Amino acid sequence: MAIATINPATGELLKTFEPLSDAEIAAKLDLAQQAFDSYRKTSFESRSLWLQKAADILEQEKSEFAKLMTLEMGKPYKAALGEAEKCAQVCRYYAENAAGFLADTQVLTDASHSFVRYQPMGVILAVMPWNFPFWQVFRFAAPALMAGNVGLLKHASNVPQCALAIETIIQRAGFLSGVFQTLLIGAAKVADLIADDRVKAATLTGSEPAGASLAAAAGKHIKKTVLELGGSDPFIVLESADLETAVSFATTARMLNNGQSCIAAKRFIVVEAIADKFEKLILEKFAALKVGDPMEPDTDLGPLATPHLLNELDHQVQTAVKSGAKVLTGGHRLSHRPGNFYEPTIITDIPPGSPTEQEEFFGPVALFFRVPDIDVAIKVANATPFGLGASAWTTNEQERDRLIEEIEAGAVFINGMVKSDPRMPFGGIKRSGYGRELSIEGLKEFVNVKTVWVK
Ligand code: NAP
Repeated sequence: MAIATINPATGELLKTFEPLSDAEIAAKLDLAQQAFDSYRKTSFESRSLWLQKAADILEQEKSEFAKLMTLEMGKPYKAALGEAEKCAQVCRYYAENAAGFLADTQVLTDASHSFVRYQPMGVILAVMPWNFPFWQVFRFAAPALMAGNVGLLKHASNVPQCALAIETIIQRAGFLSGVFQTLLIGAAKVADLIADDRVKAATLTGSEPAGASLAAAAGKHIKKTVLELGGSDPFIVLESADLETAVSFATTARMLNNGQSCIAAKRFIVVEAIADKFEKLILEKFAALKVGDPMEPDTDLGPLATPHLLNELDHQVQTAVKSGAKVLTGGHRLSHRPGNFYEPTIITDIPPGSPTEQEEFFGPVALFFRVPDIDVAIKVANATPFGLGASAWTTNEQERDRLIEEIEAGAVFINGMVKSDPRMPFGGIKRSGYGRELSIEGLKEFVNVKTVWVK
């Protein structure tokens, strides 16, 4: 895949970038290692000041960064502004809390003095996706840098200008040179980086094949990985739910980021008693969505990020139809305009056992399942290879407790949509990956947990 900026709303090629040569990659690895040798000795106070400065830059120049995101991957501009603000938030969160989270933990043993110390690991490689081109990177970088690690970013090939902008923000914030570097390289170079002695661990957010390939390379060299992969999150609505609110959130949670979020509500699972009402209301909401230029302030749904994603999504929809599923609304690309636009779509009557039931739809397409009761709702919710998030709507306490206990996922949200929050861990189980980002758990993924025993 070429490293280039192509406007997804028009298809126009705006800028191409030469990938780094092997010699340039080697020089950046050397710089990263040298940077680590000094950076690991800096105090939490200094790191915290630099990270707060990065937060200031993100806030002050959010409109520039938002334009870049929208230009390169097509998210609505208003959402891109929110993304820049959220990056500032995660920087401030770790700037304020990392020192406390990583303080020595005293433990009583047979020693005169024993404790646990948390030390940085070194150069960490982050392989990141285009869908939240700033947020995905900052939620890795903020904890990693506060812990004293240094970062190398291999960003998705369709967001090179975002990748370079992030490197600049971190440099301008005052971090030592080489503490965070962007590598403009293709995916084929990742395995060599993992094999390099200077790289100590890696994190990848993206598809299952990419995650499996990175983890295999890391396994060969016995290096730790964190994987945040795909999801097909259920959105369960039970009879006691506040239906209007649930439908509103179902629409937002499916269409967020033009439908390209790992934690989007991809499967609406609704009990039969209220399914007709839900269907009527959700069709109204989908019909009211404004599809169009993502730079316009009132646009709800912009284009998909690449033509490849558009083709893949359309293929999935047509395959579903061929297998006997029914399209309630949408089901086509928007052919009257350039760019990678797809209609807001709902598919129902999905034949049991068909591939459609199991797949992730990465775009504005919802799967709608009618179920007789909570037992079947939970069964359907768990019947995918994924386990990232789940949203469930009920006002009944016993139902709530069962949903929390029985849903197989890294997160369960009751009467709310799944979202990430710097204060709470984020990650999945099953084929959605392993490890956690954000909160204290995310901070401790890339540290040496050292046992110290003194007599
Ligand atoms: P992708 O193809 O896997 O790309 C993600 C990153 O991995 C890019 O930087 C890509 O580089 C790189 N990559 C691709 N193949 C690789 C390989 N074999 N080895 C090493 N690196 C490789 O992901 P996508 O399909 O664009 O993104 C959508 C997927 O990401 C969805 O499944 C979505 O659910 C998931 N996602 C998960 C989370 C989460 O937190 N769990 C968040 C966002 C997205 P190139 O661009 O150069 O190919």
